[in-house]
Amino acid sequence: MTATAYFASKEASSFGFKDILYEKKDWVARVTINRPESFNCYTTDTLRELIVAIDDASNDDAVGVIVLTGAGEKAFCTGGDVKEYAGVYTKRPHDYWKYMGLFSKYIESILRSGKVTIARINGIAVGGGNESQLACDLAVMADDTYLGQVGTSVGSVACGGATQWLSITIGDRRAREMLFLNPRIPAQKALEWGLVNRVVPRAKLDEEVATLAKQLLEKFPECTRYTKQQVNYWKEQAWYATVGHARDWLSTHFTTLEPYEGMQAFVEKRKVDFMGQRRKAAEGGSSEFLWGPYEHTCAKCGAKGIPQQFKFCGSCGAPLTGLAQGNGG
Ligand SMILES: [Zn+2]
Repeated sequence: MTATAYFASKEASSFGFKDILYEKKDWVARVTINRPESFNCYTTDTLRELIVAIDDASNDDAVGVIVLTGAGEKAFCTGGDVKEYAGVYTKRPHDYWKYMGLFSKYIESILRSGKVTIARINGIAVGGGNESQLACDLAVMADDTYLGQVGTSVGSVACGGATQWLSITIGDRRAREMLFLNPRIPAQKALEWGLVNRVVPRAKLDEEVATLAKQLLEKFPECTRYTKQQVNYWKEQAWYATVGHARDWLSTHFTTLEPYEGMQAFVEKRKVDFMGQRRKAAEGGSSEFLWGPYEHTCAKCGAKGIPQQFKFCGSCGAPLTGLAQGNGG
């Protein structure tokens, strides 16, 4: 390649990615989330790699089409890594703000890429996985898998693409059903609803993606790029008007009981106690704090901000009942 030195084509293997596979061949760049043992969920590191790969493909004149997919047959992508959420971000919610910044860059790298991006949906696309495929321009799906959102079931809000783009893609009523109730949408229904462009038997998935890519390559690149920019209008309106405060709201909400209960239920492999939280609020309690608001002060040692439901001081162990109440710092 003798293109300008500033944007010279680079060997895909030169990037040394760990969580993704990156391949450039016959004018098509393929970006594969390669964490099949974890249903191709992405970690913070995965997001960093995805951003670099998609950005490279966007600027490489030897690439005309980008294919985004997952390794193996079970999952396209299942969103963020719950282990990372539970281990890192519920403990340092303000770091989730940083993480969400990376996730936004990843989604925008697809949305703003100068190349047409095809989601090759080889397996379940759930949560951030469905949002990833929504960010792509076109989608081809294997006939034996499904899509869906999970936000309201797990203690989060699907505002990384789903709340913004589902109504544009499939209509307002269907979008609300997916977002409130989180049903699994099987491939045929996804096709009927316009969530994807093509559904094919699994054995034909690569053939169909290759056919589509070839058809896209047989159009003018500059006109294709600007057509994408034009059609992006509503997607960009919805995205940029909401994602900044989504980032702030999600990181703040990580300090509360909903994500805690959602993740504990996941880790303990039990059902989420949705009604427990509703009852807490309805009965006059706090549904934000696990053990109530920080309201006690210990009369013995002076420790402040001890949760309402604690009967003993967490600092010195003195009983709180009958001592200072309700005047916490
Ligand atoms: Zn004390």
